[in-house]
Amino acid sequence: MATTTAVKTTRNYIKGEWVESKGKESQDVVNPASGEAIGKVTFSTSAEVDAAVQAARGAFQEWRSTPPMTRARYMFKLKNVLEERFDDCAKVCTTEVGKTLEESRGEVRRAIEVVEAMAGVPTLMKGQALEDIAAGLDCAVFRQPIGVFAAIAPFNFPFMVPLWFLPPAVATGNTFIVKPSEQVPLSQQLVFELLDEIGLPPGVVNLVNGGREVANALLAHPGINGVSFVGSTAVAKHVYAEAAKHGKRVQSLGGAKNFILVMPDAVLGPTVNALLGSCFGCAGQRCLAGSNIVAVGDIHDRLRDALIEKSKALKVGNGLDSSVQMGPLSSKAAKERVLRCIEAGVKEGAKLVLDGRSVKVPPHPGGFFVGPTVFDEVAPKMTIAKEEIFGPVVSILRAKDFDEAMKMAEDSPYANAGSIFTASGKCAREFGYRLPASMCGVNVGVAAPMAYFSFGGSRSSFMGDLKAHGGESVDFYTDRKVVSSRWL
Ligand code: NAD
Repeated sequence: MATTTAVKTTRNYIKGEWVESKGKESQDVVNPASGEAIGKVTFSTSAEVDAAVQAARGAFQEWRSTPPMTRARYMFKLKNVLEERFDDCAKVCTTEVGKTLEESRGEVRRAIEVVEAMAGVPTLMKGQALEDIAAGLDCAVFRQPIGVFAAIAPFNFPFMVPLWFLPPAVATGNTFIVKPSEQVPLSQQLVFELLDEIGLPPGVVNLVNGGREVANALLAHPGINGVSFVGSTAVAKHVYAEAAKHGKRVQSLGGAKNFILVMPDAVLGPTVNALLGSCFGCAGQRCLAGSNIVAVGDIHDRLRDALIEKSKALKVGNGLDSSVQMGPLSSKAAKERVLRCIEAGVKEGAKLVLDGRSVKVPPHPGGFFVGPTVFDEVAPKMTIAKEEIFGPVVSILRAKDFDEAMKMAEDSPYANAGSIFTASGKCAREFGYRLPASMCGVNVGVAAPMAYFSFGGSRSSFMGDLKAHGGESVDFYTDRKVVSSRWL
């Protein structure tokens, strides 16, 4: 077994081999709980990107003609090695991104579920057929893999997001390249160590480390047929345009500003618990995180008071400590950005009813901690209500009725996820019907679709048409070829 997890400097994985990058630029990988460097990522050169593409292209023909059941068996093997190393996977994830061990376990579990779902690829990939569309003429639709795909990943789910894409792409017969976020490259070092163990043919999966130059080299490379991207909206738009310019398929998942409506008839206790998980889970660094809570009618004061009380009690600290309920932000820059957002909220007149800026975590003075932060009396026009904060900061807005609350969500340029807490079936139905966001929860704080459903939003939160995992990923990674045949 390779021992890449012990290696501090990242390596690339190309054509079944671990290779040191010759790139001249590098950056520290920092543990956000301590502020200490735990590794180094080397930014790959364009020649290394090209080597990965050539390896993937070279492996494609043989891999596409490998029976789907044989490809599915690699998914079973991958699941097994991921289960065996489950705790290591969670620990690496927590160490480089800061979330709690419990949250990392959830992340690893969700990644495994994509692998499990794609073990069904012989069934998922089946086409359609119809006899006698004209006299003696039959028609069949085959789903064919397309070639080489690449994933460009964000920092906040270093383990899971690349595994939203790699299993469906590879199981359907494509070959693949992963570019992790340069901030958190260590989880994918471990994933590729496990991929190496299962013995895929060389070139089927490849890993290149780096930042935006590597991403742009992948987007421009003529040897790549399609790109799966997850990250901020500004970059998602750029990726969408670049990929289209270079004739590639693209699914580009962007940022979010999620609304949660709390109706006067919501059951307060479970609602507040769900809000805590939604707004402060992963320190608010989730594209599904609740950000704007709209208190409808007379529930406002009770909701605010209960939310403040429970938020205050959350234990903030190093995610490796099992008693900790919220970890640090992922980087110094992320912390500074969140502090600027809080400052903007104060300046614009929102009422800071719980201030997480002064949180202290004595054993870790160098960590990037911000405590749970709650703003009340937030107006829809304020910056904190409009822009993605991506931190443990929640805004409470008031609405007199359902329609006024709904309009706030409808006016947002983002449309990733949203939830309603209510005992009314009518409101719940109306919310699901009208919400522009594509992932919708009813009395559920984090409306995350499972691996066998599709994941992604709309408007500025998603560019493309076919979303991540589920059946849509099989559509994204395959072409549907229609064969009409008549035998004379
Ligand atoms: P980011 O956009 O800064 O980076 C994402 C990836 O793009 C990284 O691999 C980075 O190297 C690359 N990149 C950055 N700038 C680039 C450029 N100019 N050209 C080409 N590539 C570039 O995002 P992030 O900060 O790593 O991740 C956080 C964001 O991701 C948040 O906005 C969050 O909402 C979003 N996100 C969305 C989803 C979703 O499902 N919609 C899921 C997770 C995260």
